[in-house]
Amino acid sequence: MTAALELTGLSKAYGATPAVCALDLRIEQGEILALIGPSGCGKSTLLRLVAGLERPDAGTVRVGAEVVAGSAWVPPERRRVGLVFQEHALFPHLRVSDNIRFGLDGHARPDQDARVAEVLELVHLAHVADRYPHELSGGEQQRVALARALAPRPEVVLLDEPFSSLDESLRARVRTDTVDVLRDTGTTAVLVTHDQTEALTVGDRIGVMREGVVEQLGSPVEVFERPVSRFVASFMGDADFLPASLGADGLVCELGVVSPRTDIAVAEVVLRPHEVALLPVASAEGVAGTTTSADATTAGGDEARARGARAVVTRVEYHGAFVLHTVRLRSGCTVRSWQPHSVRLGVGTDVEVSLVRGIVPSLLDGERTLGDSPAPASGFPRTADPG
Ligand code: ADP
Repeated sequence: MTAALELTGLSKAYGATPAVCALDLRIEQGEILALIGPSGCGKSTLLRLVAGLERPDAGTVRVGAEVVAGSAWVPPERRRVGLVFQEHALFPHLRVSDNIRFGLDGHARPDQDARVAEVLELVHLAHVADRYPHELSGGEQQRVALARALAPRPEVVLLDEPFSSLDESLRARVRTDTVDVLRDTGTTAVLVTHDQTEALTVGDRIGVMREGVVEQLGSPVEVFERPVSRFVASFMGDADFLPASLGADGLVCELGVVSPRTDIAVAEVVLRPHEVALLPVASAEGVAGTTTSADATTAGGDEARARGARAVVTRVEYHGAFVLHTVRLRSGCTVRSWQPHSVRLGVGTDVEVSLVRGIVPSLLDGERTLGDSPAPASGFPRTADPG
């Protein structure tokens, strides 16, 4: 099937500053891709190249089957690309219906009226058709901007941080509504965000960008659970890193065995706070010799192993439903652990720290994540070494 959007070798620099570097990306029809990365990594430039607001220095942009930049140049208004920006960008002097009609230039008036009514219905705003933008809430303005982008039935909609100007309480709701509309209409979309939760919840796939390239492209589960690099591990969620080295049973870090692999001498273990179990030392000693915690109200519950590494709580952050505990291990390294809201160990509490059972953490060799073991346990045939 033809991709909805395909970028090949796309590059753009501003003077000596590279913004997008030989980037390849293919987005399938009906897919929602979340693009995430730190400020200045080239997300907006990428959207602007797709929209036709910038010309690439090299490479090709294809919208559907049509080359719109590269060997040909199609101006923004003829690209079949819809845009939704952070600041809504509605025309203040035009009523909602006329804001939406704006993108339907060239269609017969009755067709315009029908389409305006249809997209307003889609975003549940038929009742505000005659209002001016300043008579709408921020969330309503954002939905009008979406309706306007969808009205000409674009091949792909680009959303540049569309929820970041909304306050926290509204953001999740407008985000859900927006995704529902995109899904209901089978719209292909690229959402730029710097918010990892937004990327993880909205994207069918996530592209993690760094310095003009996509460092990892994958499903939310892949980028969160199998990051390809230290950068992705750190950017997509909280991560702590502990050194590990080869022991009798495989790779061992301060918390214990982290991998049965024996083909690596040293590595670093990536630990997410939900993968780290805690038990106050008094409780831990009460259950010594068993394999599960007897104190289900504390850290890790029966997920926790009985004995772990000794540590002391150095910081406790109450987040409402969960409480983030930071602990310092004997080595001086710190790790963090999410606990249910009922667990609030005081700073200075002695604890035992272990890996939540069943966790297979990612391993880093320098900046890159180590791949699977070259000697898999299954019957997967090994390729003969040509040398
Ligand atoms: P992001 O959207 O990820 O924050 P941008 O695409 O805005 O990143 O920027 C990528 C790089 O290009 C940054 O180094 C930025 O300073 C530079 N840049 C972006 N737009 C311009 C411009 N119009 N002129 C000069 N440099 C720019």
